[in-house]
Amino acid sequence: MTETGSFADRVKQQADIVRVIGEYVHLKKSGQNFTGLCPFHQEKTPSFSVHPVKQMYYCFGCHEGGDVFKFVMSIEKCEFPEAVRTVAEKCGIPTPRPRERSPQERAENQQRAALVEMHVQAAAFFARQLADATEGKVAGAYLEDRGLDRAAIARFSLGFAPSSGDALLRHLKAKYPEKLLEISGLFSRDPGGRFYDRFRRRIMFPIANETGRIIAFGGRAMGDDQPKYLNSPETLIYSKSNVLYHLDRAKEALRQSDFAVLVEGYMDAIAVARAGIANVVASCGTSLAEPQIKLLGRFTRRMVVNFDPDAAGQMATERSLTLLLEKEFDVRVLVLPGGADPDKFLREQGSETYRKLLAEAPPYLDYLLARARQMDRSTATAKLAAINFVMPYLQRVPNRLLRSEWATRMASELRIDEPVLREALRRAAAERRSEVKPQPELLRPPIRPAERRLIQMLVEAEGFRERLAQEMVAGALYRGLETERIFETLVTRVRERPDAAELAAALEERDRRMLFEVLFEPYAEATWEEAESCLGVLRSRSLEQELAELQKKIEAKAPPAELTRLLARRLELQKMLARG
Ligand SMILES: [Zn+2]
Repeated sequence: MTETGSFADRVKQQADIVRVIGEYVHLKKSGQNFTGLCPFHQEKTPSFSVHPVKQMYYCFGCHEGGDVFKFVMSIEKCEFPEAVRTVAEKCGIPTPRPRERSPQERAENQQRAALVEMHVQAAAFFARQLADATEGKVAGAYLEDRGLDRAAIARFSLGFAPSSGDALLRHLKAKYPEKLLEISGLFSRDPGGRFYDRFRRRIMFPIANETGRIIAFGGRAMGDDQPKYLNSPETLIYSKSNVLYHLDRAKEALRQSDFAVLVEGYMDAIAVARAGIANVVASCGTSLAEPQIKLLGRFTRRMVVNFDPDAAGQMATERSLTLLLEKEFDVRVLVLPGGADPDKFLREQGSETYRKLLAEAPPYLDYLLARARQMDRSTATAKLAAINFVMPYLQRVPNRLLRSEWATRMASELRIDEPVLREALRRAAAERRSEVKPQPELLRPPIRPAERRLIQMLVEAEGFRERLAQEMVAGALYRGLETERIFETLVTRVRERPDAAELAAALEERDRRMLFEVLFEPYAEATWEEAESCLGVLRSRSLEQELAELQKKIEAKAPPAELTRLLARRLELQKMLARG
């Protein structure tokens, strides 16, 4: 059992690891296990397994493994107590009031809850403003002009912030203390210290977190007011780099289609979603931040970037590419013809044309080559600049063969001498290699089937686990084996009945992997006869080992008295081995 007390134990007993992990990974039943694409490394064929009976998971590709808490700690990047709370919440197990929380933390949690509630009320207020009032009618007409009818307005909970400057303030100030209004991000102060509405005469887009709770707003100016887009500032409940617009509604579609369409703005995301492509998210005006990429990576690692084709959009695309490639996303880039953003393009050309272009979107290197082709390449210096533009991305292609193919294409399209380009690529690759720490060699010689089977039995064979452990200890049968430390851990803890994840935690990386791999093999009920025969294999091995050592001593010309003893022992060992 875990050491941190009874609550964690209870949660672990009650939690269904398949359900918890299933919220992050699309799992399919496969034999006795569930498998899916590993959320911890990029892969195309599933090597991530969840064992519902042993309540553990293991990735045969990157070797991440453990129990339900370890999974939540790894994927949410949190500590053990938080992981326990998260699992408890997901499984509907009531959490005891956490005593370790400081009064300040408690106060912040209360503020967070109040702020979320305030945002829900603000969203309802903005929606009502759009429905009535003369000003709201103008806003409604404006939206209709952009192809957004009543149904669309309701579907995306759009609203309108009136121009008066204190409409929302009057609505909320009786319900919330000034301190809370101050930190909500919904109001500003004038030089005289008086509050006024931050959003005035703007179309309002509620921004929800991953679970669908409204935590901020984006406001779009209706006329030529500046700025064109105004967002909530960072608050206790909103951090821009942690949120992707429309993710809460896109989750299912992202998992099912296994790819994302990434656009820049709210209107783009709404337009694409309305075209029936639900797997769309918006970065909200800027290039992606690392937390956003991590968030998205939980649902899919394949995406089409479809930013505005203007200079800012190009820069955002290229900055996002760098990060996405670092995180090993499979990225394609769609540049719409005629300099249109997705919203405008969909209104003018329709969803069929858009879908077709989306399906044909070229890999990111094609996009970059097209950009480089537009650059000036008349002089050697200009050519070098074009090479340097593409090179950092080309380097990031993980597959060597593919990288080489791309280098050939790049050389021909940019009319650069191929040897020159390859030399540059080699140098860049060498620099990159020296930055990367070499992985410690974790390969090991294969272990005998008998060892694998004995490991299984020590964990699973209810009838004779303890007896088996005694036999192994008595004969020192695992000494010198590759699996020595695994056996040592198993036999010394055989009475405690630890679960697999706890055993694994006591082992070093290499042994940990081995244990997970063995335990994920299907277990067929074992008999004591079978155990005896496996023990026999280890006994023979230990005799053979002794024989080999003896042989060495004999050949090394031991003194006569010693030699007689050695020869006698050799005969004895040979007889024992012959008996089997
Ligand atoms: Zn993995």
